[in-house]
Amino acid sequence: AKEAGRRCIRFYDKDADIARSNREAVRKALQRIIETKEFTLYYQPKVSMKTGLVTGCEALLRLNHSERQQSVAHVDIVEEAERTGLIVALGREIMRRAFLDVSQVMEHLPDDFRFSVNVSPQQLTSEGFIAELLSCSEDNDVPLQSLDIEITESSQMINTDSTYKVRNWLKNAGVTVSLDDFGTGFASLEYLLTYGFDQIKIDRQFTQVLPGDDDAKAIFNVVKYLADKLDMAVIAEGVETLDQETYLLNQGFELAQGYFYAKPLTIEDFMRFVASRQAK
Ligand code: C2E
Ligand code: CA
Ligand code: CA
Ligand code: CA
Repeated sequence: AKEAGRRCIRFYDKDADIARSNREAVRKALQRIIETKEFTLYYQPKVSMKTGLVTGCEALLRLNHSERQQSVAHVDIVEEAERTGLIVALGREIMRRAFLDVSQVMEHLPDDFRFSVNVSPQQLTSEGFIAELLSCSEDNDVPLQSLDIEITESSQMINTDSTYKVRNWLKNAGVTVSLDDFGTGFASLEYLLTYGFDQIKIDRQFTQVLPGDDDAKAIFNVVKYLADKLDMAVIAEGVETLDQETYLLNQGFELAQGYFYAKPLTIEDFMRFVASRQAK
């Protein structure tokens, strides 16, 4: 046991070293990205499984060459930003870029199209969030009614006055709010019932074990029941196979996102995908 214990400690030290040097690189990259705005947004289509048409997309952060060269991953950047509060500054740049990208292709998008941007609870309740949204919309001539905000379940979201104040403002402005990664986080039933989400995104860990897994099927059933009662839309994340799509369609689900349709794409490739689906 002593042997094992000692070996354990040695492994630990080594890991800690790696984590430290990585974190330094991540921290530097994060600072630089916010300062220089050198990052890219990729767009993953959301489709109607019934019609095959593209109904929207999700904007996802991708790093430019210099950061990737230093083996910094975008998920590490987001995590470090969340941890340090810099997600507010980074998220603001991401929101602005998404509006800019969409403004350049708006005329080729369907009228009821919505683009989704991931917003951290910290950013949602940060000072100036609403003013910034208004200015993104005005500067780029893209209506707020085209925006959807994806929020991950989080303990920080529960029952604060400011989250509900922002929520009401968004509703009035026509911005929809989706609960991201449903089934993995902190959302209590009470929160789900009272916050007034427009849409629930079921996490891909459940989608990916369909149609064989009873627990996953139960999650989908419960969400469908709740969503119908509360007038919320449901979207399945991470659809990768025809079997999964077929199961979901048979159960009465309509919206999906996942590699089965497309990976996250550059805005140019995304527009090609939209066009190819419209032509069908
Ligand atoms: P998320 O918001 O749940 O985003 C969905 C993730 O699932 C994306 O990973 C997407 O590429 C991946 N995905 C989509 N379909 C499939 C599929 O069929 N199979 C598999 N295996 N994966 C699929 P990505 O882009 O690596 O993002 C990871 C996470 O990082 C996001 O999870 C989100 O929490 C965070 N993130 C990414 N971009 C942003 C951003 O701009 N702002 C914020 N706040 N967070 C972001
Ligand atoms: Ca998301
Ligand atoms: Ca998600
Ligand atoms: Ca996720």
